[in-house]
Amino acid sequence: MTDLQTATATQGVELAGVRKTFGSTVALEHLDLVVEPGELVCLLGPSGCGKTTALRLLAGFEQPDAGTIRIGGKDITSVPPRRRGFGMVFQDYSLFPHLTARANIAYGLRVRRTDAATIARTVDDLLEVTRLAEHADKFPHQLSGGQKQRVALARAIATRPGLLLLDEPLSALDAQVREHLRDEIRRIQRELGVTTVLVTHDQGEAMAISDRVAVMNTGRLEQIATPRELYRRPATAFVAGFVGTVNRVRARRGPDGSWWALGVPVDVIGDLVATDTTADRLAIVRPEQVEVRPAQAGARVVALSFLGAVTRLTLDHPEEGPLLADVLSESTDALRVGEHVSVTVRTEAGAVMLA
Ligand code: ATP
Repeated sequence: MTDLQTATATQGVELAGVRKTFGSTVALEHLDLVVEPGELVCLLGPSGCGKTTALRLLAGFEQPDAGTIRIGGKDITSVPPRRRGFGMVFQDYSLFPHLTARANIAYGLRVRRTDAATIARTVDDLLEVTRLAEHADKFPHQLSGGQKQRVALARAIATRPGLLLLDEPLSALDAQVREHLRDEIRRIQRELGVTTVLVTHDQGEAMAISDRVAVMNTGRLEQIATPRELYRRPATAFVAGFVGTVNRVRARRGPDGSWWALGVPVDVIGDLVATDTTADRLAIVRPEQVEVRPAQAGARVVALSFLGAVTRLTLDHPEEGPLLADVLSESTDALRVGEHVSVTVRTEAGAVMLA
């Protein structure tokens, strides 16, 4: 184990004022990001927002044009990747094809000339933790996608890195395996307490796995918060729209200057403080905030999708147009396409926000 790794075990990482350009493309504008020791943070955002660039800067594969990268408070901006000693899992896993699962996992320890007994013990422990013991002697081509992913993860954490960097580690897997392995990554990460940064463009994945999610947009951090906070108190309209499903409805100003939408008061959030205008704006209402009651007139039911406990209704509202409502399935048993419902908003299910 290098001195740097010893120093960085269970320490936090920080990007401060980081800027990165490729020719005329600004990949990162000014990124400030702090990941606490032992925390799992997902970098989430649309394609091209700079997630991978941020991860590559952390790994040391790229150098920032400006700004500082610190781990445990120590400036590592100019430390080369090899000396950072971080664990990495890439989209394609990059396993050594000529090595068995066991030998792949042991690779980093062998390079560090760790003694044979320690290697055997560590690898056995990791085979156990990643539930790969029965596949230990298989080569990568004999493993399923999910098993390969777990070998890559075990290999990345074998050297007890101070920081684990995961670049879309689940993107090559089908939906069911993804969900299972997402939970596995989280379990293993928690068990080892390793500070982890994971890149994904899948908001469901980010919300399910993270302590906090960093939502990025065009090279900037829009918000970093717990999944719950992001969903309930998004700082920007971009975050609200990117995390979860939203209805956008008209917001109007009341005589006292307050904003209203669908008959309820609207919260003005973060950078959305309304300028002094009388023009209508848009408000964001989550489908689960929309409450419906059978009625003779009002919104028309266009479609019903049974999702289990909840049924998603697609409505055609006479003033707002299309609206999605997620309601408990038991309350929709008698409801049919073409019927009408009255629409209200349950404010106790979260604030309605101005977009
Ligand atoms: P995706 O989800 O599609 O992987 P991302 O959020 O990871 O996207 P980055 O790969 O960080 O985005 O890219 C950010 C921007 O920087 C993009 O516009 C991309 O084209 C550009 N970029 C990244 N790497 C390079 C490079 N080596 N040379 C030139 N431009 C680059």
